[in-house]
Order: sequence, then C-alpha cells, then structure tokens
Amino acid sequence: MDMKARPSEQQIFHLTGRRQGDSLRAIDGLGLRPALLAPYRDLGALRHDFPVVLIDGADAADCVRPLSSLVDEMLREVAPRGVEGERLRRHGLQLERNIRREVDAGAGGTLAELWETAAAGLGARAGETLEQVLNYAAGSLRAEGEVLGCTPAMPARLVTHAWRATRDARAREFRSELGRLTLKLSDILRAAYSHSQAGRQPESLKAALGGSHRDAFDFDALSRIVGKGAPLDELPPARRARLERTLDVLQSQRFFATHADAASDEVYDFEFDNCAAAAQAWRARLDELAALVKAISIAELEVSGRYVEAEHDLVFDAFDASALGTDDLARFPDYLVCIPPGRNEAPENASLMDLLSSGLPIKVLVQTDDLLEDSSIGTGHFAFGVRSARLATAAMGLGGMYVLQSASSNLAALRWEIARGLACRGPALFSVYAGAAVGAALPPYLGAAAAMQSRAFPAFTYDAAAGSNWATRFSLQNNPQPEDNWPVEILRYCDDAQQTIEQSCAFTFADFVLCDPRHGAHFALVPRAQWNDAMLPASEWLKLDETTSAQRIPYLLAVDADDALQRVIVDAKVMQATRRCLLLWNRLQEHAGIHDSHADRLLARAKAAWAASQQAAASAAAPAPAAPAAAAPASAASEPESASPARSRDEAWIETARCPSCNECQLINDRMFAYDERKQAYIKDLTAGTYRQLVEAAESCQVAIIHPGKPRDPNEPGLEELLVRAEPFR
Ligand code: SF4
Repeated sequence: MDMKARPSEQQIFHLTGRRQGDSLRAIDGLGLRPALLAPYRDLGALRHDFPVVLIDGADAADCVRPLSSLVDEMLREVAPRGVEGERLRRHGLQLERNIRREVDAGAGGTLAELWETAAAGLGARAGETLEQVLNYAAGSLRAEGEVLGCTPAMPARLVTHAWRATRDARAREFRSELGRLTLKLSDILRAAYSHSQAGRQPESLKAALGGSHRDAFDFDALSRIVGKGAPLDELPPARRARLERTLDVLQSQRFFATHADAASDEVYDFEFDNCAAAAQAWRARLDELAALVKAISIAELEVSGRYVEAEHDLVFDAFDASALGTDDLARFPDYLVCIPPGRNEAPENASLMDLLSSGLPIKVLVQTDDLLEDSSIGTGHFAFGVRSARLATAAMGLGGMYVLQSASSNLAALRWEIARGLACRGPALFSVYAGAAVGAALPPYLGAAAAMQSRAFPAFTYDAAAGSNWATRFSLQNNPQPEDNWPVEILRYCDDAQQTIEQSCAFTFADFVLCDPRHGAHFALVPRAQWNDAMLPASEWLKLDETTSAQRIPYLLAVDADDALQRVIVDAKVMQATRRCLLLWNRLQEHAGIHDSHADRLLARAKAAWAASQQAAASAAAPAPAAPAAAAPASAASEPESASPARSRDEAWIETARCPSCNECQLINDRMFAYDERKQAYIKDLTAGTYRQLVEAAESCQVAIIHPGKPRDPNEPGLEELLVRAEPFR
C-alpha cells in the first residue's frame, strides 16, 4: 500500500470535501448508519418506551404510560410465578410486540381496540383459548386510552393530553369552589327574601313548604301572622346589588365548564396553534378574568360575613387586571400553544420570546424537525441548527420560567417533568426534536434517540421556581453518560476470521449527521485495503491540538445495509460542527455542575495552597544548612538554595521546579502554558495568548512563580493597568 499517497487523498477530502483519485467512495445509496445503531434495525422487536398510552381520566403525572410498563404490571398480576405463568408471559409479550409493530405501521386506536385485534391475531394462529385468555388478562390492564407511536404528531398530542389533565384537575377544584360560593350567596339572598314582605305572602309561604302538608295549612292566616312587621327588604340596597352582581359574574363565567360534560362552546378555548392568537385571547379576556377574581374575593368575604363596606368597597372599586397575582392566575387554565412543525419562523410566532419573558401563564410546545438545517447555504458556513437547538437555552437565559428540552424518544421518560412544567405558575417552554427530518433514513424514534445520544439535542430541564441556584434548577437527567463528552458503548462484531471483537466506540455529533442522507457529501467511504494509521476515530481526533490534528484524518465506524463494518472519513465542516456541538454540550454540563470551571479553579487553588504549605512544612523540618565556608562572600551565603539563575525582569518565565501542578495557569490558556514531563508548568508558547492572560495567570498562581515580564505587543489594550498589576511578579 502506498502509505504516502493514500492519506493525501484522504487529507484532501477532509480539508475540501472533494474526492480525488479512486481510493475513496461516495456513500450515497450505501445505506450506511453509525455502527452503534446496527442492533436497532428492527425496532418493533425491541421493548422500548413506545408506543405510549394516553390514559383517560388520570392525573397529569400518570396520564402517559409506556405500553411495556402496563403489560409488565398486568403480567405481574395475572401470570403465576415460575414455569406455570411462563406461557402467559410469553404470549403477553408477543401481543405487546404485535401492537408495537401495528402502531409503527400506522395503526391507531385505543388500547382496548388494539389489544383485541392483536389477541384475535394470536388466537387465529394458536387457538381460540389463547385469545380468550389474553382478552381475560386485558381486564387487569386498568388503563384505557389512545395508543401513540413515536411519530412527528406525537409530541403535540402527548403534551396536549397532559395539559388537559392539568386543566381538568383545576376545573374540579374551581367547580367545587364556585359551587360552594354560588350556593352560599344564593342562600343569603333566599333568606333575605323569605324574611321580607314579599317572602311572607301566602303564595311564597306555600311555595316554601314541602309537598303533602300544603293542604293542611291556611297560608292566608299564616301570612297575616308572620308577615306582621316584616321589612320590605332585609338587605340594604347596596349589599343586595353587590350580591346579585357577584352571583351573576360567578354564574356567567366562561373560563371553566360549570359541569364536567357541559357543551364546549359555552367555555373559552385555551388551546392554540400560534403565539399571536394566544396573546390576543389573553388580552381580550383579561378584564373578564379580573372581574371574576374580584367576584370570587367578594363572595368569599360575603359568605364569611367579613365584608366591610367602608374598607372593601374602596379596594374592589380599584380592582382591575393590574391587581391580578400569580395565585389568582393559578386557579385558571393556562394557555397552551402547540406550534405545528414548520411554523416556528412564521410571523404569528415571532413574539414567542416576548411572550415567555412576559410571565403570562402560557405553555408553549415548539417542535423541531430538522436539526441539520443549513441556514446559510452558499456562504460556506455550515450552521447546523443553531436556532432550533438553542431555543431552549436562550429561553433559559430569560429566567423566571420552566424550560424542558428533549428529543421525542425521551418524552415518555420525562412525563413527570412535563407534568411539572404544565403545573408551574408562569410560562413554560417545551422544545422537542421529533426525529423526522425530511428524507431521514432512520425511523423517527431512532432519529430522535440519535440526536439525544450524540449531544445534538441533549435533554435538560430548567425550573426557575425550584430553588435559588443552578444545582436545584437545572438537570441533565436522562442523557447518557452526562459526565463525558460523548457516550461510549462497546461495539461487538466479527472480524474476517469470524472472531468476536469488542471495542469502545463513541457516538458523536458527526455520527448523527451520518444518519442524514442529505449530508452524505461530507463523508467518504474508505475501502478496507486503504485503512491506515493516519486515520483516527473522530472522538479521538477532537482531542488533538491543531498541529497534530492536521496530520490525522477523523473517521467514523459505520455499517452498510448488510451490516458489514465500514470506515467513513469526515470532512472539516462536519468536524467543525461537531466541535461546536461539544462546546454547547460542555456549557450545559457546567450548568449541571459537571466539570464546573469555577469549582475546578477553586479546587486547583486549594490543592496548590496545600502543596505550598506541605513544602513550607518540609523546609522548616529540614536540618539547618551547614555554615558557609569562611572564604565564601557574605552575599552568596544569603542567597536561598533554590535561587534561580538571574533573569531579566522583562522576560516572561516560570520557576518550573517549584510548580505544584495546580493547573490554574492552563485553565486560563492551555496553549500558552503546559506541563513538562514532570508535570510542572512552563511557558510553552508566549505568542499563544495575551499579556492580560499572562498577568492573570501570575495573579492566580498560588505560589507566585509566574513572572509575566514586559508586554510583547505594545498595542494591547489596557497595558497601563496591566503593568501595574504585573509589577509585583516581574
Ligand atoms: S505555574 Fe502556578 S498556576 Fe501554573 S500550574 Fe504551576 S502552580 Fe499552578
């Protein structure tokens, strides 16, 4: 093999994305996928979180369940332990598999419907008794509802279902409260009427008395007796007007149905498909909402006999929308906006960030179907999904809200977090990648899982109300191996000699791009005969410095349609995007307290201080140096043992031998400072940083062994101040 020629063709491809010569092949039409995805060709055969069941009538936290968990629960109940129950367990799991395959193929329906069809299918093959047994077992499922696969339509239906569960819980509370208040207010009015002259007329007395005893009474005589001295109206006019007005507002409200089964056109709709419509509805209903909150407050005071006109009239006269607080709003349904895929950039959704930052009780689902959009085609800049992938991070920066980002494949696992977001006071953003890019080669579930696995779309939640610091507010829950740059799995395959080989394999952003046939031009297949030592796995290549990486070619392990292992090299644009993805992931890690640079710095300082104190203690314990020779000059005797050779104060240098390796200087600039073979710091490249960094490193060094010298660049900004700071260390 011509080792010199081969890498150069690879190098040309890596740098330019152009194939020259015949040692590289285009990957179009080869059906390549990352090698780690090889075991997932038949998703239907694998038990995973989908399909899910949207359970009717359950609380928001329990209203979404993976089918597999329901089947497990059912089998635990109906299948006897041990061999006895083995047959039923096997058939139960087979039935679950059949439902999964049906749903993946596009079937829809409720769990009961799909179960019955699947049981009939199994029964047709294995006998009627089995069908009966399975249908009997279905009685223990204890859950019913729509079954959903991991399709692009699923996120909106799942979030809407959970939102409705939250709304229904509020509606139950509201109806109960409203019923109590209207009843009590009506009682006050009714009591006042029955004590009034009108209420003591014979007809009124007759109407007030129950059925069979009516004929036994002389209501005219009774009216003459009890009507004597009855007031025209027991209630003062102002109070009567207030009570009637309040009752009218309570009874005519349209924020909740007065009965669980009331016609839907009697109440306001809170589900929208764009931000502008939701904002408009909010504004249009605001005064009515304030009037209802005011009526509830007045009613509560009235029924408890605490309404004092002199005090409360003034307060309620001034009560308007501006007086509404979060406690008031929390009683009502939040506004749900599910933006349809492809409408994120539409004018009617331009106010999304304003809406979220305004603090309105609005819950927004933004769905992204394409993380690899090339937003500036033709400019040569490969800007993978900056907008969509960073929306949730940007929203988090606004503060004061709940933010959840997740791939759709992970939504079932995050169902409690979704419920928490929907229940929060104030705005919430759910940013979901649905794994269904145009022309994508993978099914949506796998595409979404690959996005999360590759850090292209990591899952996280941010709950502003959860506490006062990042540790309580932010979570990277569910991401695989969150401590690491990339998740690493063991890849098992057979080599040419049919021996099983195991090797670690990282799943990177570049692997995710490889899944998308639209970006096939950024990869080239290297036939096995051309594999060489210059090739390096992409995850390892990213760890190299600029000079070394220029000598190596990053590659990914992939499998073709026959599951044969292949190597594909990656061009510089995708590697650049991969580096950028890693940078964004590292920032999220810092939010979660993983590799926190502040904590690292504090730790390094503490270590250096400890090392310095150890060194000082050791020097103090050492025997006193021998007396200087009589002939030695006094000045030489006073110089410390460790004194360094004389240096110009203009020279930048480190007393390397005294470095306790705290790493502080390299945290500031790891190209300027490096460790030698004894892991002690030296200035590796003075030109790789600024004088400011040099001075900052000198200030950070706990043992004060960095000497910044004088500035190299006389035009560096802020030199005057920097020289003053540098003076003690020169
Ligand atoms: S030179 Fe100072 S800051 Fe750098 S590693 Fe050594 S002790 Fe730490």
